[in-house]
Amino acid sequence: MLSLKNITKNYVTGDTTVEALKGISLNFRKSEFVSILGPSGCGKTTLLNIIGGLDRYTSGDLMVTGKSTKEFKNRDWDTYRNHSIGFVFQNYNLIPHQSVLSNVELALTLSGVSKSERRARAKQALEKVGLGDQLHKKPNQMSGGQMQRVAIARALVNDPEILLADEPTGALDTNTSIQIMELLKEISNDRLIIMVTHNPELAKAYSTRIIRLLDGRVIDDSNPFSEGEANAVNKGRKKKTSMSFFTALSLSTNNLMTKKARTFLTAFAGSIGIIGIALILSLSHGLQAYINHVQEDTLSSYPITLQSETVDYSGMVSSMMGKNVDEEELASYEEDRIYSNDVMTDMMSSVLAELQRNDLKAFKEYLEDDTNEILQYISDIQYGYDVDINLYSANTDDGVVQVNPSHLMEDMMGVTYSNSIGSTMSNSYSTNTQVFEQLLGNQALIKSQYDVVAGHLPENYDELVLIVDQNNQISDYVLYALNLKDQDELSQIMTSLTKGETFETTQVSFSYDEVLNTTFKLVLPTDYYEYDETTGIWTDLSRTSDTLKTVVDQGISLKIVGILRPSENSVNGSRSGSVGYTSALTDYVIDQVNRSEIVTYQKKHPDIDIFTGIAFPTEDVETPSYTMEDVNAYVATLPEEDQATMMQYFAVMSEDEIMNMFATIMGQQSTTATYEGNLTRLGVADPDAPSSINLYASTFESKDEITRIINEYNDARIANGEDDKTITYTDYVGLLMSSVSTIINAISYILIAFVGISLVVSSIMIGIITYISVLERTKEIGILRSIGASKKDISRVFNAETLIVGFTSGFIGIAVTVLLDIPINMIIEHLAGISGVAKLPVDGALILIIISMLLTVIAGLIPSRIASKKDPVIALRSE
Ligand code: ADP
Ligand code: MG
Repeated sequence: MLSLKNITKNYVTGDTTVEALKGISLNFRKSEFVSILGPSGCGKTTLLNIIGGLDRYTSGDLMVTGKSTKEFKNRDWDTYRNHSIGFVFQNYNLIPHQSVLSNVELALTLSGVSKSERRARAKQALEKVGLGDQLHKKPNQMSGGQMQRVAIARALVNDPEILLADEPTGALDTNTSIQIMELLKEISNDRLIIMVTHNPELAKAYSTRIIRLLDGRVIDDSNPFSEGEANAVNKGRKKKTSMSFFTALSLSTNNLMTKKARTFLTAFAGSIGIIGIALILSLSHGLQAYINHVQEDTLSSYPITLQSETVDYSGMVSSMMGKNVDEEELASYEEDRIYSNDVMTDMMSSVLAELQRNDLKAFKEYLEDDTNEILQYISDIQYGYDVDINLYSANTDDGVVQVNPSHLMEDMMGVTYSNSIGSTMSNSYSTNTQVFEQLLGNQALIKSQYDVVAGHLPENYDELVLIVDQNNQISDYVLYALNLKDQDELSQIMTSLTKGETFETTQVSFSYDEVLNTTFKLVLPTDYYEYDETTGIWTDLSRTSDTLKTVVDQGISLKIVGILRPSENSVNGSRSGSVGYTSALTDYVIDQVNRSEIVTYQKKHPDIDIFTGIAFPTEDVETPSYTMEDVNAYVATLPEEDQATMMQYFAVMSEDEIMNMFATIMGQQSTTATYEGNLTRLGVADPDAPSSINLYASTFESKDEITRIINEYNDARIANGEDDKTITYTDYVGLLMSSVSTIINAISYILIAFVGISLVVSSIMIGIITYISVLERTKEIGILRSIGASKKDISRVFNAETLIVGFTSGFIGIAVTVLLDIPINMIIEHLAGISGVAKLPVDGALILIIISMLLTVIAGLIPSRIASKKDPVIALRSE
């Protein structure tokens, strides 16, 4: 069955070599009960370990069922240990965190026996040793004798040919020892038992053969066996042992469960890195979302604006600052004199010099080319036209009130602008005080910034929305401008205030339904004029309030169909308190104007000013001389009120003065009136030639791309010799934008660096913890190896453990982060007023758990390799 041929074993430690076995030759029968006796240190354990395949012999040969083991690979030894050998140790060597049943089952899991069979066989083995009723106890709940029975059951469960017992009764009292010996005796009926003992009486009483060792040699054998009697070779090929990953997982889980507090602390320590990363992730995720939101919001208020005529104000500003003083001129100044500085003229000339014309018609064509790459960076394009959207309050009972363009501010301030620079300034001034504005065309963009609190977004040209602020308020200015509050009240306030009195205003409120029913009247610029058959000219109906009222009453009704409120996270509150209309309204007005009778009429008579019937002046016209008849004819065309005023003036004026004044009036009319001027006055606009284009960028980067593409467009025009088609643009926030994106990038890089550091720290931590666990479980490694676990199985057990720890770490990390995000959000909201910044994305959380598992496994690879390389004999000796 088993034969040893001149086996030697040397232990080399440093310079000294211990010869533990000095040439042992023995043959064993298929079934006998052999006792090995000898003093301590004579090599008994060494011999047993070599027979059991736990330790390798230095020279000689071990023959198993007639087969040499010289060529055995690691796997073959594992299989041999698992199937042919059962070990029983003096100190039982049970795995403390596994139940009795699981301890016994373990050997069977390694040999790949199905779960149900495993359980049945383990129970059977335990019943055989008299422990059928103690299956679920833990080893530390049992007496020494009971534990040794469990060890015997475990050794027997695989039905091995050889049972090796190293001082199995060494730690037991006499009575229990006898019970164990009885058990072994019974077992030896059908297998070989080799038992090391110190007790010669027990050996004599129970064994069938006694071998005495001394100093690594056999000095006596009571019943030697010659090789000739050896049994026939056992042919059945043994199945290779292997532990399934699931077994490794359950082994590790059980181990971890016995040390719950410690496992939790370990996982928590490992999770600190994950918490760090998850916090950074949730902050940067929220911050990025917030930044994107701010970008969109900001960019929707600050488009890149292209105007058909633009002025570079920088020259004007510098002349206003008086920076244009010539050094040489200064030097020529005398000390005690005061000199003039021509700020005003410099300013005007610089403004006029910097006046640029943009060919927006060509640029619009360029934009409308679908293949244009600029479109991918643009969230919306708005075309503006020099067309007034004339809107009036629909209620004309107490007089006509124009709500757009509103003159409320000018009226209140008593400011009138007459010259061209003044009107430029008043335009930019009044655009800020206008209540009506064109909405963005991109509805998704609108919806991301506003909540529709009532009604719906406008879809038709005749639909409007009211935009209220976050608190559902609109300013009194808007109320007056919309004639929702009586504008007369304003002048009353003014009067009271100038008299030093206080004026009590009452707060008013409106229900959504009231607001939704508000209508306005749209009057086309062409609707103000009516053809007079008798004079053959078009008279202005807006001159008298009665006719204007009729015009307004006949206007097209526009209705507020929805109420928008900036969404909670909207950064941009500046647009609240206004009424929005769609580009469809502008298109409608342009279309209607172009088709109107009066425009057709003016186009048919391009030489005549249709408002006066007088021909447009040609370039070099002499100032005509007038007679009193011309004056009277002119006065007759005026409305009656004006006629009366005129007559009062004429009564106190000499004829010469009247003629002079008339010449001035006519001179003014004839110089200002042109064909183009009249068309503009009528609101004629070419849909293909906008007067302004607003480009809304989707992100800061897109904005840079857009300006780059415009520059490329300009270069291409210049290359084509079309210098007049280049575009100059006003980028109000360009500088600010670029610094913001630099900051964002810097923040992202810093965050990435933090994440990297936390990853490294947490993986080192987990590596150390796994290594500590390896040190702790050395004994278990020895036990597993003794029952046939391969090196791979051992590393699998530790990999499973690190995987569990990694998962737990990740899970704790995520849970803690989600909890920490709550106070962090409260603090940020308190400090910055931004809610919900810290938010861990779900996919990020999952990825972090996976990263945690991956990192711990990687960190645990070295310790688990160390574990698998541990010498099982040394491992078993450790405590
Ligand atoms: P026994 O079991 O008979 O008491 P052992 O077989 O344990 O004796 O030891 C035999 C001899 O080998 C002893 O001198 C012991 O010191 C030595 N020995 C055992 N294992 C090792 C080892 N791993 N390294 C070095 N020496 C060892
Ligand atoms: Mg020993």
